[in-house]
Order: sequence, then C-alpha cells, then structure tokens
Amino acid sequence: MKTNLLAFDAAGMGAFFAAIGEKPFRARQVLRWVHRAGESEFARMSDLARGLRERLAATAEVIPPRMVGDTTAADGTRKWLLDVGAANAVETVFIPETERGTLCVSTQAGCTMACRFCSTGRQGFNRNLSTAEIVGQLWWANRALGAVHGTDRAISNVVLMGMGEPLLNLDNLLPALRLMLDDNGYGLSRRRVTVSTVGIVPMMDRLREECPVALAVSLHAPNDALRSRLVPINEKYPLAALFAACRRYLARAPRDFVTFEYVMLDGVNDAESHARELARRLAEVPCKVNLIPFNPFPASGFARSPRAAVRRFADILLAAGIVTTTRKTRGEDIDAACGQLAGRVHDRARRAARVAGAAA
Ligand code: SAH
Repeated sequence: MKTNLLAFDAAGMGAFFAAIGEKPFRARQVLRWVHRAGESEFARMSDLARGLRERLAATAEVIPPRMVGDTTAADGTRKWLLDVGAANAVETVFIPETERGTLCVSTQAGCTMACRFCSTGRQGFNRNLSTAEIVGQLWWANRALGAVHGTDRAISNVVLMGMGEPLLNLDNLLPALRLMLDDNGYGLSRRRVTVSTVGIVPMMDRLREECPVALAVSLHAPNDALRSRLVPINEKYPLAALFAACRRYLARAPRDFVTFEYVMLDGVNDAESHARELARRLAEVPCKVNLIPFNPFPASGFARSPRAAVRRFADILLAAGIVTTTRKTRGEDIDAACGQLAGRVHDRARRAARVAGAAA
C-alpha cells in the first residue's frame, strides 16, 4: 500500500524522506508542493529530480477525502460534504467575511458527546477522522476556492468547530494543526487557528503542552446542574475543573483570553438571572463570551432565544466588564450553521447496542 503524504507534518515528512535515503530539504519541498500549491501529482513537482518523482509515484500518494457535495448559501457561505468511507460523510464550511475567511473543519464522523441541542450529537458516532481527512478539508477548500499557486489565500482562519469533539481525536488532530501553522504548510498564526472543545480537561492540558492555539470552550450554562443537563460530559469535568484547566491553558496560549461559547436556548439558559450568575462565575477566568443564537434542526425540542433576550443577556455581561459578542448566523438556508452539521453518520455504537439488544 502507498503512503499518503497528506498525513505528514514536517517531522513525519522528514522521517519518511530519511527512511528512503533523501535529504531533509526534499521533505520541505514536497510539503510546499502538497500544501502550499495544492499539488497531488508528483510528476508536476517540477523542482524534484526525475528519479525522485518516479520513486515517490511508486511508493507514495496524496489522497484527500473525496468531495461528494458542494452547496453555496445565499450569504456566500459554502458547505462541502466529504466522503470518509463506509457511507459516512462529514461537512466543512467556509464563511467569507470582509476582513477574513474562516474555514470550519470537522474532526470526527459523528460525536460521542451527545449535547442535547446539537444535530451532530443526535447522529451518534462512527469514528475519528484521520490526519489526512482533517487537513484534507483545508487542502480541498484551498483548491476549491482557487487560492493556490501563490495568489491571495481565501482562508485566513481555521476553526475546529465542525462535526465532532476535536480533543477526543487529539493524536490525529495534532499533526493537522502543525501543518496549519507550518510556513511550508498553510502558514497560519496560532491566533488564527481555534480549537473548540466541550471541555475535555486532561486533553486541554495536552493541547497546551503540544500545540497551544486559540481556545474556545462550549459553556452554555452558568452552573453545573443546568450544564450537566445540556452537556452531559459536565458530569465528568464540572465547571470548577473546567475553569482551572482554562487558567492553566492561558499560561501558554497565543491569546490572553479563552472564548466561551454560549448557545442561547429560549426559556432554558437565557434568563437575566443566568446572565448574572455567569458574570459572577466568569470573574475567575480571563475570557470573552460569544453568544450563539440557537440554530434549529428537525425535532430538536429547543427554540432560539428572542433577539431582545440575547441583547439583555449580552448587556448584563458587558456591564460586568466581560467582552461579549453575538455570533451572526451564517449559511442557515443550507444547514451550514453551528450545530446543524449532520453529514452522514452511520452510528456504530448504536447499531452495536441494537444488535446486543436483539440478541438478549
Ligand atoms: N465539539 C466541539 C466543537 C463542535 S461544536 C465543541 O463542543 O465545542 C461548535 C459549537 O456549536 C459549539 O459551541 C456547540 O455547542 C455549538 N452548537 C451545537 N449545536 C448548536 C445549535 N443547534 N445551534 C447553535 N450552536 C450550536
């Protein structure tokens, strides 16, 4: 079987080239071809010796996930559906704005976290994406947006906020993050790459040690009782442990604040009393708050907070000195908004449970 070079960060590529007896600068050249130029054909890597090109073609390949869907919303938001095998597909979303272009990348086919208000969480879980499948989303999007071969890059920011919980797939995510930061890769600064997590405390510590990038934490409630109802993993990593992990993270982070995401659910977590409680709790962590109006999906059982409620909530946090923004909903008409990414997930665990149930 050929080796997929898309999976290698600089160290991995270096080791691959060392193993075939090639110099380190060859590894860097190939990294630039693959990620900067979006090239997948060795024959077109014109500054490599012919012999090396032939050897690479015989032993290696550059295989991104296959694109099986491409939709553009009225507001310019674009969503790709990427085949990840066994009839599973994940979604990647590009959000153009005047000053920047953000790519929202998925890390798992499905998700095990089962947050109550999230469409991905309702799909169940199939598997972790590989490094090639994670970075391959950026590779695809760069090519599809026509931003290769030296022209201005359409993608200035990457957020790991698509399908899945990034920190439960950290081994595969880390090389992808390093490629995003590498000058021979996508050359993004640490502040422009954001990992969003539901709050897997030990993995937050690992991310801090191994590749500190900007951090967003999905909070959604001001106290443990309510958060455990909305975000079940809170039972395992409650708020005190989560906030302590945020503070440890900040010691190494490229920014001096954590972004807390807070989905606004009508009549559930959007009362003025919730805002006041949140302001009190957040006094212990340097942070910004990003309020996300809930994006509905079929049979979710939740509704979006009215705009006035969102504004009141924001005003209370602002009055307490907490920088608070409200996320603009993008791409809603193509189900590309936060929490609407369903893709195609064949839930292995659930199927296994059904089989077990049938056998019992
Ligand atoms: N698992 C990671 C990243 C993926 S979700 C995490 O939990 O952070 C990205 C963000 O969208 C999270 O803050 C998530 O809670 C939020 N979200 C999920 N469902 C949503 C919905 N229906 N409407 C609005 N935001 C939602």
